[in-house]
Amino acid sequence: MALRTPPAAAAAPAALRPQFQRLAVLGVGLLGGSFALAARRASLAQEIVGYSKSPSTVQAALAAGVIDRGADSALQAATGADLVLLAVPVAAIGPLLRQIRLGLSDSALLLDVGSTKSDVAEAAQQALGKLALQFVPCHPIAGSERSGVQHAQATLFEGRRVVLTPLPSNPERFVDVATQVWEALGAVVSLMEPGEHDAAFAAVSHLPHLLAYAFVYAVARQPRGPSFLQLAGPGFRDFTRIAASDPTMWRDVFQANATEVLQQLQGFKQALAGFEAQMRQGNWQVLESLIRQASQSRQDWASPTPADDAP
Ligand code: NAP
Repeated sequence: MALRTPPAAAAAPAALRPQFQRLAVLGVGLLGGSFALAARRASLAQEIVGYSKSPSTVQAALAAGVIDRGADSALQAATGADLVLLAVPVAAIGPLLRQIRLGLSDSALLLDVGSTKSDVAEAAQQALGKLALQFVPCHPIAGSERSGVQHAQATLFEGRRVVLTPLPSNPERFVDVATQVWEALGAVVSLMEPGEHDAAFAAVSHLPHLLAYAFVYAVARQPRGPSFLQLAGPGFRDFTRIAASDPTMWRDVFQANATEVLQQLQGFKQALAGFEAQMRQGNWQVLESLIRQASQSRQDWASPTPADDAP
């Protein structure tokens, strides 16, 4: 898998950190709110303007000091901004880009935080045409099952990986500045092809979310489910934490990356059928060997960051 680190020259010393006049955050939820707080802490922008679908979200972001000013539309927020962050569910990225297109200056840098990348690249090209060269697709491997600006944290990206999947049309300087932006927020940047990104995250993020949802659904909906759930302990809590994640966001991810997720699901179903067959046949030694291999792989897995709880 080609996971590349940007050239060392792209890393910005503190004195050379990019400075923006106006940061526009479109979608002031967990990721967008955290980006705004982190940007403020890093003195990345002189002014932070926010827009979200619900006016109550903009009000909450203002009241919490996450943004300096609320906008009535995405176009109003993005007009005059030199840094625009799209932090909305992935299916909303294309439509939002269409809404802001006419207000974009030709030097503005556009970033997103979407969990899938091939669809976002396609949507950006469709929505922006030639202006797509200003849009650098990004996926921070940071977050949680909690949604909303009330859970935003200035430290969310610290020490976390952010995968950039540049478009062929992105000039190097836009990719460099995008890298510097994330590094200023404490993140570690890697570069990947969008297709490779989507294959990898189907395996280690999207399929686990699908399985967690299906598992909780199966347990909760059986006749004695509610009473069983009252007895559940730490194992259930750890295994199912991500099943509390936002349904709209995850519907979008499963839809956007359906081919890769379904391929991973096939492999999972084969493995599960193998485990089941050993149980049905009473092959407990073989079952133990399968479990042992899985346990070893889990123990060998070196968590890239201290708290890997993000999609
Ligand atoms: P979130 O907390 O639910 O925030 C999303 C925000 O976008 C909300 O404020 C929401 O609306 C707003 N929004 C939705 N549709 C919109 C539209 N059409 N126009 C304007 N605003 C709109 O979700 P999140 O966890 O921050 O996720 C945002 C993005 O980050 C998603 O693309 C997701 O794939 C990606 N991501 C998430 C995680 C994670 O752990 N959560 C990790 C990595 C990447 P309201 O104004 O109605 O509140």
